[in-house]
Amino acid sequence: MVSENQPTPVTQPVSHSTAKSEALFARAQAVTPGGVNSPVRAFHAVGGTPRFMASARGALMTDVDGREYVDLIGSWGPMILGHAHPDVEAAVAEASGKGFSFGTPSENEVLLAEEIVSRVAPVEQVRLVSSGTEATMSAIRLARGFTGRTKIVKFAGCYHGHVDALLASAGSGLATFALPDTPGVTGASAAETIVLPYNDENAVIEAFARHGDEIAAVITEASPGNMGVVPPLPGFTERLRSVTAEHGALLISDEVMTGFRVSASGWYGYEGPYRNGPADLFTFGKIMGGGFPAAAFGGRADVMSYLAPNGPVYQAGTLSGNPVATAAGLATLRGTISHDVYPGLESAADVLRKGVSEALDAAGAPYVLQSAGSMFSFFFMDERDTALQRRLAEGVRNYDDARAQHTPAFAAFFNSMLDSGIHLPPSAFESWFLSAAHDYNILDRILAAVPAAAKAAAAAQAVRPEE
Ligand code: PLP
Repeated sequence: MVSENQPTPVTQPVSHSTAKSEALFARAQAVTPGGVNSPVRAFHAVGGTPRFMASARGALMTDVDGREYVDLIGSWGPMILGHAHPDVEAAVAEASGKGFSFGTPSENEVLLAEEIVSRVAPVEQVRLVSSGTEATMSAIRLARGFTGRTKIVKFAGCYHGHVDALLASAGSGLATFALPDTPGVTGASAAETIVLPYNDENAVIEAFARHGDEIAAVITEASPGNMGVVPPLPGFTERLRSVTAEHGALLISDEVMTGFRVSASGWYGYEGPYRNGPADLFTFGKIMGGGFPAAAFGGRADVMSYLAPNGPVYQAGTLSGNPVATAAGLATLRGTISHDVYPGLESAADVLRKGVSEALDAAGAPYVLQSAGSMFSFFFMDERDTALQRRLAEGVRNYDDARAQHTPAFAAFFNSMLDSGIHLPPSAFESWFLSAAHDYNILDRILAAVPAAAKAAAAAQAVRPEE
């Protein structure tokens, strides 16, 4: 929580060497494709050596060379209380002291499911899984099983994990690497996916006019954060609700990123409830695992009853509902309420949005700032492309808009921040993630680094990306 009364001690960087990270990266590349276990971590979009982290506490991470960074990745979302929060540490220690995995039901699974169901009103039942990918994959299977239909509508730039059928025009790492698609996904699984431009009601209506009785579900990020932050235009999600309902298709709201981050009940609590009803299914992950592998999908009880063992749609997992992961998730979710984190996240986001905007203005670096609650991202623009600037000034509304940003300017901004000990997500297509540990001292430290980074971005923006 942002608090002026409880300053976080600010320690000085011990070393600027990256020798140990470089050595580990070289070893990693010999035994792991690209040296990383998730592509964006490799720094391809920003250049340089990824920092191998040794430890993290609060808003700070320390790498293997002993250098400290202010963390704005937050493990891509889960660490809303800050790293190694004492409440979560205690819950994990208690749970792991009783065994690591039982393969039988256990109490924490019930408590975590109750916590989710009590927060997100339309979710009557949840099934726990281990990753957001599993959650969306299972929700899609369930929607197909429930409706007896095959086609899925998704939006370009929305990332729902690396589910085969959902990798068409996905954001996140695919946006970072500009891969329109990925080999290994068969034509058959892609053929059942209809990809539409985000925030385009007419495209949705047209798709339903052509394929209405074949579409099992529309899946959408509740508020997209994987092409940068691109919130739904007013009324867009309501329209998705009414069109799907008219045609007997389900609406799946992917809250893996927004869930329990933008409010205690996610985007549903932030923008909704909608006049014409909520989504039928929701997916969750990240925060509900507190940094451990736990995720979930859930929604209407009549739909969820189609899942095995009650219904015919199969879904299972050796580590689903793992007692340590559920303990971490439960402590994290409870901590968001007991520590009243949401107002603090909003004010921390405001301080950063204002400070960074001022620095970019002062440096003459054209940008668009977009927010969804405490999630936000800056889209840099080509300094000389005034037509693009005029278009995007009205809003980055979809993946085409997001891809028009000037990614080398982001890379310059990122690297300048990193040199100053501030670790942003290494991609222009991601939100900045704040935590309750980002107090005024931490924010000051970030803002002190911003003017130099803004100048670096402005210098990069003067050059066309292809030059
Ligand atoms: N859905 C959304 C909206 C996400 O942002 C992500 C991951 O970033 C996923 C699904 C996939 O989650 P995971 O990486 O846990 O598989």
